[in-house]
Amino acid sequence: MLQSVDVGQRSIRDYRGIVADEILDRLNGLAETLRGLRILHLNATPYGGGVAELLRSIVPLLNDLGLVAEWKIISGDQEFFQVTKTIHNALQGSNRPLNKDDQRVYIETTRHNATMLEETYDVVFVHDPQPAPIPAFKGKGRSLWVWRCHIDTSSPNPEVWAFLHQWLSVYDAAIFTLDEFAPPDFPVKQVEIIPPAIDPLSPKNFPLQNIARKVLGWLGVRLNGPLITQVSRFDPWKDPLGVIEAYRIVRRHVPNLQLAMVGSMALDDPEGWEVYHKIRREGEKDPSIHIFTNLTGVGNIEVNAFQSLSDVVVQKSIREGFGLVVSEALWKETPVVAGQAGGIPLQMADGAGGYLVNDVEECAEAILKLLMNKDQALELAKRGKERVRQNFLLPRLLLNELSLIKRLTDGRPLLRKDWEAWRDRVCGMAVSESAHVFSAEFMGKSYVFCSEGCRDRFVAHPERYI
Ligand code: UDP
Repeated sequence: MLQSVDVGQRSIRDYRGIVADEILDRLNGLAETLRGLRILHLNATPYGGGVAELLRSIVPLLNDLGLVAEWKIISGDQEFFQVTKTIHNALQGSNRPLNKDDQRVYIETTRHNATMLEETYDVVFVHDPQPAPIPAFKGKGRSLWVWRCHIDTSSPNPEVWAFLHQWLSVYDAAIFTLDEFAPPDFPVKQVEIIPPAIDPLSPKNFPLQNIARKVLGWLGVRLNGPLITQVSRFDPWKDPLGVIEAYRIVRRHVPNLQLAMVGSMALDDPEGWEVYHKIRREGEKDPSIHIFTNLTGVGNIEVNAFQSLSDVVVQKSIREGFGLVVSEALWKETPVVAGQAGGIPLQMADGAGGYLVNDVEECAEAILKLLMNKDQALELAKRGKERVRQNFLLPRLLLNELSLIKRLTDGRPLLRKDWEAWRDRVCGMAVSESAHVFSAEFMGKSYVFCSEGCRDRFVAHPERYI
């Protein structure tokens, strides 16, 4: 069986007052018509990067809205993830092709994962290229399949695109972040454009107030001088070395400037270590360059603190899918200097939030301008925050996705009408019939649980959960 990712419980009600009532009302209304629908989100990693960030919030909220949603990940070894990173890079335009061995590894591993997907769902969202061939290998069955592509596939390497293309035509629909990302010969008729969004209530984004200063102080950041930060996977497309160059230019004018490079290692991104070592070599020459990773304890709260307290957040991407980090920084009213790439200009449309740049010199100039002119920086950041509030908060994304699900499933019988009977009342997860199930009786009715722990919590206070 594929590994499930455990998610907590969330309530859509908590978003009242943050997100427009109209969005929440429409979302609740739509969800009511989809109650009991079984949804699977399938991707390659439970941490690191934007997809994991999104699913961590989307899945519990779908459950709260009355659907039965699960998140599962495929498994693969280092070699497989080397190949999938090559595919990722090639789809974003790199010219390194796949050799025969790479192709074999990719096919064998995804075929094996296809056999491990045992349950049936009404709709399966397959994220990015890593698991893309699964419906072709497994057969579509009675499910609807949606390929959710998060990367910039507007000018893919033709050979690698042809290789992947053969498995995409079975999909019922596909979602891209931007219109221009859908390649011209894309084989799926129903293409939907849906930009991602951030979760204002996650530990990454909720207000930290004075804890932020304590967190950065503890990490060794000087709190009495200007700070610029880039938060992103250590990936050449995010141009971390370009950020260091820009910092060095700005530092000539602002000698006490500090730079924080906060980067995560993802399970499916082996290239991260190479880039990390290059940045370390640069950073070692300068004590004002701080380098942090998720592997040394810099998690959501720390990232939140950096995004909240930096004078400028930089995201100097050369190629980008969406770039959640931009909305994350703007939501904290921090001005941003970012590469004119992928979904970044959409987030900072009409000059909201800061400056878009195309090279190191422009980047340095824009950072300096924001550091030297605090009033203007704040004004831009406030406009950025308002743009995020209106467009890039999670309920809007859920509304988009449920609208698509509604259109796809209208008129189809649900696969499981008795879904309530297979829902763990404690953790909210759908419990698979094929898994080892724990059960308990209460007032003549039987309930199932994913674990002994959930069952014990239910038995202690059943009235809380029914
Ligand atoms: N991120 C993190 N820790 C890090 C670096 C990144 O938590 O050290 C998070 C970041 O806050 C964001 C996500 O990873 O939520 C990156 O998403 P984005 O869309 O910017 O880029 P992707 O990695 O998907 O290309």
